[in-house]
Amino acid sequence: MGFLTGKRALVVGVASERSIAWGIAEAMHREGAEIAYTYQNEKLLSRVQKVAQQTDSSIVLPCDVSSDKQIQSVFDEIAKHWDGLDIIVHAVAYAPREELAGPFVESSTRDGFRVAHEISSYSFVALAKAGMPLMQGRNGALLTLTYIGADRAIPNYNVMGLAKASLEAGVRYLAQSLGPKGIRVNGISAGPIRTLAAAGITDFKKLLDYNDLMAPLGRGVTIEEVGNVAAFLCSDLAAGITGEITYVDGGFNTVAIGLNYQRLLVKD
Ligand code: NAD
Repeated sequence: MGFLTGKRALVVGVASERSIAWGIAEAMHREGAEIAYTYQNEKLLSRVQKVAQQTDSSIVLPCDVSSDKQIQSVFDEIAKHWDGLDIIVHAVAYAPREELAGPFVESSTRDGFRVAHEISSYSFVALAKAGMPLMQGRNGALLTLTYIGADRAIPNYNVMGLAKASLEAGVRYLAQSLGPKGIRVNGISAGPIRTLAAAGITDFKKLLDYNDLMAPLGRGVTIEEVGNVAAFLCSDLAAGITGEITYVDGGFNTVAIGLNYQRLLVKD
């Protein structure tokens, strides 16, 4: 029996089979959870339906997170299928492409800042608010996805780094606010992974290569590895963990000197 048997999860953020949200949904399904999905727009519907079928799910609902109305109708629809909800996975981020290229000061605009924060950070709060009634009394869990650009300046990541910093603060504030209701809130800071969202970041391939050079494991991470940690964090096995950001990055964030330089400094 899987460690999520009997749990019901809403996964927001599948766009393709490369999506981190897909790695999470697969792991949760394997561990026995039932999954409901959302899709951002009609262009993505058939892709999300395809992955939903692979996890025996028929609940696929439209949701652009910039709309409170659409967010509310997701939970109204879920309530028609399920009598409660245990898990919400938020794997959504967006900033206009021009903001994710070149020097931070030059590429930043008021509008880009607003959009990046609204879609990438506020939406987590909005989902938590609207999902609360269905999550009452079930020891539920919320999970979001972040990146080390929240803590350290990374070329081209720009305004998304600020939005992720806001999102990570949101994890702590939501955890404090929802803890008394028995709901845990955590984030995973994933290493770089080739996905549609990542393709919007200028020179993303160089970030991937740099990760391989720096990380103690000497390689990038996979959506399956992130999915397994997500499944654990949203399960009762992690009942004592809330308000945390857990790194799944091959150890990248733990070192100051990468593998290649280490070999120059430390002789075998
Ligand atoms: P992805 O492109 O597969 O997923 C991003 C999702 O955001 C898509 O499903 C897209 O439809 C959704 N989205 C964007 N704007 C939306 C809106 N207005 N309403 C509803 N949905 C919207 O890419 P991914 O890399 O799997 O991204 C998932 C999360 O993981 C993001 O928060 C991203 O920042 C984070 N993350 C990614 C990496 C990486 O290297 N790929 C690393 C760390 C964290």
